[in-house]
Amino acid sequence: MIFEKEKEIKTTKFLSPLKNFAVESQEIEYRKDLFTGIECRINIQRSKRIKQASSAQENSTEVTAMINKTKGNCFFCPENLEKCTPKFTGFNNEERIMVGESCAFPNLFPFGLYHGIATFSTEHFLDLPRFSNELILNNLKASILFMKKASRQKPNAKYPVWSWNHLPSAAASIIHPHTQILIDEEPTPFQNKLIENSRKYFAQTGQSYWLKLMAEEKKAKERFIGEVGNKDNGVAVLASYAPVGNNEALLIFKNASTFSELNEEQLSSFAACLVKILQGYSESGVNAFNVTTYAGSMDKKDKDYYTLHARIISRPKFQPLYTNDVGFMEKFHYAWIIETKPEDVACKMRPYFK
Ligand SMILES: [Zn+2]
Repeated sequence: MIFEKEKEIKTTKFLSPLKNFAVESQEIEYRKDLFTGIECRINIQRSKRIKQASSAQENSTEVTAMINKTKGNCFFCPENLEKCTPKFTGFNNEERIMVGESCAFPNLFPFGLYHGIATFSTEHFLDLPRFSNELILNNLKASILFMKKASRQKPNAKYPVWSWNHLPSAAASIIHPHTQILIDEEPTPFQNKLIENSRKYFAQTGQSYWLKLMAEEKKAKERFIGEVGNKDNGVAVLASYAPVGNNEALLIFKNASTFSELNEEQLSSFAACLVKILQGYSESGVNAFNVTTYAGSMDKKDKDYYTLHARIISRPKFQPLYTNDVGFMEKFHYAWIIETKPEDVACKMRPYFK
């Protein structure tokens, strides 16, 4: 494979109380993607472990109560949005950006030069199956208008990131569905690494890493999930070889390096892929997730060698008590502990792309 995979399986043994202290062996798969540098350890047995928090009676009534309780004072709900959310300055008097029901405005507590929020709709809560192509498309359009206005106002602000944390167990502080858009003068460290490695790969081989990756994965049929659209306007979806989260999928635009290049058809393909993945997540009991994008420069200077892509991962199920899935290995050691095997994720997700 193109990322020259390094994979090693180690077996660890112990006497298990679950087997009357007979010998239990478990396999841990160590993977490293040499292109992204991501290192992870996969033990699919971990998905079976007892989590004390979630073994407390799962109570959807409590979740519903929490949703209803937060609705009253939600800044993103239509009755509060106008008086409670910030407005843009210097965008030709356009203080907020509206596309359909999606509304984009500045983040009240930004962590980037331009940091916006874009809602999906006026609804305070949407479960995964309720995110339609149209809602996602409108959010993307509002987000891209913000990116373009920001980079017009400050031409050096040209590295955009479109991200989506859904529900508190995926780090969302507000239940009302929304995305976050950052536009900065420098790419994030990982975005920079991807752009630089793509540039180097192109210089060495005369080929795009991303086109080669899509072709190889499609041929190998191990992690390829499906695609929407054609070679000009399409998006391909695969399970990442070395993921940073459970049920991770990579969504790769077939013909774009950044958001400023995207036309309506490309945005529709991307939205359709997300809808299919969310359907798959929902049917396997997932209700919380993160999405982010890795884009090249808005001035399209990375077009020859770089490809816009996104990553989506599932997060612990949002319920009154849940166990966070990011601990010391991820926070301090940059190693991702995973309980879903990418090849199994691809098998599970393929039917939604048929
Ligand atoms: Zn709300």
